[in-house]
This record gives sequence, structure tokens and C-alpha cells, in this order.
Amino acid sequence: MIVLGIESTAHTFGVGIVDEEGNILADQRIQYRPKEGGIRPREAAQMMSERGAEVVKAALDEAGIGMEDIDAVAFSIGPGLGPCLRTGAIVARFLAKRFGKKLVGVNHCIAHIEIGKLVERLEDPLVVYLSGANTQIIALANGRYRIFGETLDIGLGNLLDSWGRAVGIPFPAGPKIEELARGGKKFIPLPYTVKGSDLAFSGLYTAAVRAVKKHSIEDVAYSLQEVAFSMVAEVAERALAHTEKKEVLLVGGVAANKRLQEIIRLMAEDHDATFHVVPMKYAADNGVMIAWTGVLMLKAGMETRLDEPINPKFRTDQVDVLWMK
Ligand code: AMP
Ligand code: MG
Repeated sequence: MIVLGIESTAHTFGVGIVDEEGNILADQRIQYRPKEGGIRPREAAQMMSERGAEVVKAALDEAGIGMEDIDAVAFSIGPGLGPCLRTGAIVARFLAKRFGKKLVGVNHCIAHIEIGKLVERLEDPLVVYLSGANTQIIALANGRYRIFGETLDIGLGNLLDSWGRAVGIPFPAGPKIEELARGGKKFIPLPYTVKGSDLAFSGLYTAAVRAVKKHSIEDVAYSLQEVAFSMVAEVAERALAHTEKKEVLLVGGVAANKRLQEIIRLMAEDHDATFHVVPMKYAADNGVMIAWTGVLMLKAGMETRLDEPINPKFRTDQVDVLWMK
């Protein structure tokens, strides 16, 4: 079985091709970059509809195959930005109908988990999923990926990018903040908000924007990271203690951060769990993870109708994970 997967939830339009064993045959991506400020969903979708076909073609060329060799088309059905999701879905539905292929709509968050499990060869990890829009602690329980804690307002990456924008760091601000934080010397107390198993970052954002008026940007970057990452570690630790999973997997774009990795690693090791990070190449949004999750779903008999709508608010815990027994 060979599956072509299309990712289009936000900035990235990605096309990946994988086979049944998880061999990656193609991985093509283009990125929308706003001229200034944050993402403009319709502008991103416009770029995707103009260049989508070209990315599909590049992926087929990379794999050295044609549409006749593809068994099914997978696409991100949600969560994400409506205009972007709709554009990817249109391309996927067109390919499925035009070439008579099966269609499978994939939950984007679950795809981040499954690609991590594939490349790190894991069985059943506690997943710490930290991206621009999403912040979730996830573990498989009773047939679904249950959310053991999540952000109540903005995603962790969004916190970093928004603070970056406020202090003049262009998107994506995460890497630059990590660099600045290494130069920080003084810890500035900032709001630490954990509510039960959930997190909130907007108070931290506001305080960190104000703090740059009184403190060096390096000190604020350092303190912002320490507070935000500690909040994540606290809720992840509680979930790990409860679920007793033996593997911890860090996924999403923010997983690139070395200080974050260190904090989560120490937490995992305290509970005798092994620690894993998705290789950076697959931590960012990509079509390969959609194609691979499509393979797993199709093998479990899961398919999507051509008229199934996209779901911008699709939750991780709404999918019956039939491919895990
Ligand atoms: P994603 O939404 O999964 O594509 O991830 C994108 C997010 O990852 C953006 O918010 C980036 O700022 C963030 N990011 C990327 N690299 C780093 C880093 N080294 N440290 C912290 N955040 C990062
Ligand atoms: Mg993502």
C-alpha cells in the first residue's frame, strides 16, 4: 500500500508519500510567510491553492512514481485554520475522485504522535505535544488518545511567537528566544498558571511583554522559557505518574528547544521512562505524518467519504484509535 498525504492546517502545505512499512518515499513542503505580523489564513490558503499542484507533482517525482501507483490519498481534516484545511481537502478530494483512490481524513495532532512513534520506534508513549497552536499532554487509554492536560488559551509556540512579535522578533520566534535565553542571567518571577491538569499562558504573555521595559531581553527570554516549560513539565509529570507509561515523546515545533528537552528528559527519567524527541525534520508540520497515519487508518479499515467536511476544531480524543488493537 502506498499513500500520498497532504498537510495544510496552517503555514505549511506538505505532501508526503509513504509505503505500508513506513518507508518515506517523498517529503515536499512549502511555507507561507506573512510579510509582517501573524498568519493571515486566507492569504495562506491562496498560496496553497496556487502552488498545491506543483507540490503534489514534486512529491510524485521525488518518489519516482505516478498517481497510478498510489493506493489512497490522506489529508489533514482538522484541527486547523478553515481556509487552509479546505484548500488541502479540495486537492485531496480532487485526486481521490479523479484517479479513483480511497480517501482518508487524518487528525493532525494524531499524525504528530504517529510519526513520532514511527521514527523513534515506540510502543505506547506519553506524548507532550507542543506546537504553535497546540499544547497537549496525551496518552492512549481505552482506545483513544486521551488528553491529560492542555492549554486553556493559547498554544506554547503561540506564546513564544506573540511575545517575539511584541519585542520585535520575526516569526517563528522560538529559535531566537532560545538563543537569547542562553544569555539570561537573572530570573524574573512571571505568572505561573496551572489549573488542575491544564495550563494558561496569556497572563505570562502580558507580564513578559511588560517586563522588557524594566529588564534585559535576555533575562526576560530566559525567565519566560523557565516558567512556561516548568508549567508543561508539571502537568506532564502528573500524567506520567498516573498513566505509568514507560516512554515519553516530545512532539511539535517547540520540541526543537534544547532547554525544554532537558527539563522533560529529567522529568521522564525520574519516573523510569525513556525520553524521545521527534527528529526536527518531522517535528514541524509535514505531509509524511499525514500519509503514515493514513496507512495505519486504512489498514484498520477507516476511510472518509468525499463529502465529509473539514473540522477546524477536531479534537485528539474524538478519534477511535482502531489501529492500536
Ligand atoms: P508547529 O506549529 O508544530 O509547526 O511549530 C511551530 C512552533 O515551534 C512556532 O511557534 C515556533 O516558534 C516554535 N519553535 C520552533 N523552534 C523552536 C525552538 N528552538 N524553541 C522554541 N520554540 C520553537
Ligand atoms: Mg502541527
